[in-house]
Amino acid sequence: MPPIFPVLDMPQRLLMGAGPCNVHPRVLRAMACDVIGQMDPEMTACMDETAELYRQVFRTRNRHTLLIDGTARAAIEAALVSLVTPGMKVLVLRIGRFGLLLTEIIERVGGVVCPVDVSWGEVVSTEAVKEAIERYRPELLVSVHGDTSTTTAQPLAEIGALCRKHNILFYVDATATLGGMPLEVDAWGIDIATGGLQKCLGGPPGSAPITMSERAVEVIMARRHDEAGIRSAAPQGEGPVIRSNYFDLAMIINYWSAERINHHTEATSMLYAAREAAQIALEEGMDARFMRHARAGAAVVAGIRAMGLKVYGDDRIRMSNVTGVWVPEGCDPNRVRSLLRTEFEIEIVSSFGPLTGKIWRIGAMGVNAAKHKILLTLAALESVLASEGVKVVRGAGIDAARAAWEAYS
Ligand SMILES: *Cc1c(COP(=O)(O)O)cnc(C)c1O
Repeated sequence: MPPIFPVLDMPQRLLMGAGPCNVHPRVLRAMACDVIGQMDPEMTACMDETAELYRQVFRTRNRHTLLIDGTARAAIEAALVSLVTPGMKVLVLRIGRFGLLLTEIIERVGGVVCPVDVSWGEVVSTEAVKEAIERYRPELLVSVHGDTSTTTAQPLAEIGALCRKHNILFYVDATATLGGMPLEVDAWGIDIATGGLQKCLGGPPGSAPITMSERAVEVIMARRHDEAGIRSAAPQGEGPVIRSNYFDLAMIINYWSAERINHHTEATSMLYAAREAAQIALEEGMDARFMRHARAGAAVVAGIRAMGLKVYGDDRIRMSNVTGVWVPEGCDPNRVRSLLRTEFEIEIVSSFGPLTGKIWRIGAMGVNAAKHKILLTLAALESVLASEGVKVVRGAGIDAARAAWEAYS
């Protein structure tokens, strides 16, 4: 029998959207390593090594640093399901679509959301965080770091200290910034931070690194996380049961600990991918990597402006790895994206909610935060816009991007 469908052969696209981005070839190679048993000593050693690498990526000494098997949202859900109890007041900083995702998950597990809202494109001031803490007296504060929907990054450095002062736990969704923009888990006093591989870490979607402070782990372990018949020997908490089995961080911590109490089967090939992605990031050096992403962002911004288009948002709070571009008058934003894909094999993306159809987002993340990929993308965009009748300054975008890349230090 011939195969039902042709042998799988995906196009080689240049992914300059908001994630996933192209995967580093070393990561793809690592994924081709043979699958071994989950309790094989070489497998558990690989888990320990991966945890150590992610401590360095997150810039933390947290003992409990591990992977959640699933995309970034899986780690977000694990963190919130394991921290939030029914009736718990949770302060949510909402700067975009992903702040709304946090809200949704918290409400599903019975938390009481105390929102701090700003217009899309803005961030929450430390002053506003202080006021909200005093008004609501929450037990937990959650925030997105870089919200890819608005391309803005919430400053976090001062929030952790406020949380410690008021005895509030602090969770951060750093999916879009981990490995691309500075994130200092320990120095900023973050209790739990989560990420994903497919943004600045240059891996495929499907594994989500998480790190947890001792005080967060204490709270999680104090909750009931029993699985009848398997873990009678494991100490049990008395608090409200964690309302998920797969995302029960207490059980996942026990699985990643020396006791290796069985939970799920660690997703072997994704573990290899996560390990290799972190190795590559640390070989480059985290600071060098942040610099490369900032340089790439500066080149995109300079190129877009020189072309005569408008960049979305405020320069001071812009993410370096994703840039919003206002769709110019007189063109169909979806048609432009589709021409970029069909004529140039390049993907850029739209946005969500109030920004749907209003902006495009151009990402330069992981291996794609590279000069030539930015120049190719800008040249392609210029050509497509010109052919669609939009007035652009021909040639100026790539020249300005080249100059900005060279000038960046
Ligand atoms: C991409 C992204 C997510 C979702 O990640 P998935 O891997 O699709 O689950 C969550 N939060 C932020 C800030 C993101 O940019």
